[in-house]
Amino acid sequence: MKIFTSTILQKILISFVIATLTPWCFSQTTAPSDFKVILLGTGSPNPVLNRFGPGVLIQVAGQNLLIDAGRGVTQRIHQEKLPLGHINALFITHLHSDHIVGIPDLWLTGWLETPYGRRNGSFNVFGPVGTAGLMRGLQDAYAWDINARIKDQNLNPNNLTPVVKEITQGEIYNNNDVKVTAFNVDHGEYLQPAFGYRIDYRGRSVTISGDTKYSENLIQFAKGTDLLIHQVAAVPDELMKSPIFSVIMSHHTKPKEGGLIFTKVNPKLAVYYHFSLNSTPSIPAVTEKEVEEQTRTTYSGPLVLGEDQMVFHIRSNHEIDWSRQNN
Ligand SMILES: [Zn+2]
Ligand SMILES: [Zn+2]
Repeated sequence: MKIFTSTILQKILISFVIATLTPWCFSQTTAPSDFKVILLGTGSPNPVLNRFGPGVLIQVAGQNLLIDAGRGVTQRIHQEKLPLGHINALFITHLHSDHIVGIPDLWLTGWLETPYGRRNGSFNVFGPVGTAGLMRGLQDAYAWDINARIKDQNLNPNNLTPVVKEITQGEIYNNNDVKVTAFNVDHGEYLQPAFGYRIDYRGRSVTISGDTKYSENLIQFAKGTDLLIHQVAAVPDELMKSPIFSVIMSHHTKPKEGGLIFTKVNPKLAVYYHFSLNSTPSIPAVTEKEVEEQTRTTYSGPLVLGEDQMVFHIRSNHEIDWSRQNN
């Protein structure tokens, strides 16, 4: 009886703690007309503190859609005061580790019943062929944790179940006027398939490049988009002599090419993310100012050099305003 009473008390206490913490970590509500895009991570594999791994959050029509889950994606989502479990769907551009290394954290921590977790339903993932195998492998890798939490914390396994859809080019998601279209990009011969994504909602749209070289297909799919978020890579000429860096550069878009893409697409606003600016101890990286200058040789329209936690609102009149958030 004593044990029974203390268990009940513990449960009440836990409920109380959770209820007390809830207002501190509430789900952001967006107005029905709001179309919000947040750069969660704008970096590359470089393990730096100011640019986390690739991740873009789209909040529209009450849905939270996430493009890629790079390093630190959970911390950035938490900074947005959004429980990890409230991501409705994850869209993976390709299976390079810098775009998916945050998945186990998002998937498993989002399962917890604490205010920062709270998934109620399956973990929905769209991605290239190989995504189902990735999620199966993660289930094996984390089997001990999963079994332990089911037995010890009584967590509901239904809220952990991955539901994976391996995609090809075309419309892959359509929910309450929110449409997601995947399109092929060119990340290199051995790095296929790789996708970019376009998200449309009642005439407004954002297009995200993922990792790609200059891609005519991207230009076709991005035509008429309001916000174009594109990757960029640059290294000093000396570094191109190194096979390490010349291979990296052969898979990505350089600033002059980025400018050409922006000119051809002519978005309301062009934004760079996934900055791949490599250096060595003796050769400094190309600066962001130089990236902008090189882009300006081929593009004269509106341009923002993206930073982690930048927020863009695509208004119903297609105007875009943006701001920095520093939590
Ligand atoms: Zn890549
Ligand atoms: Zn990448």
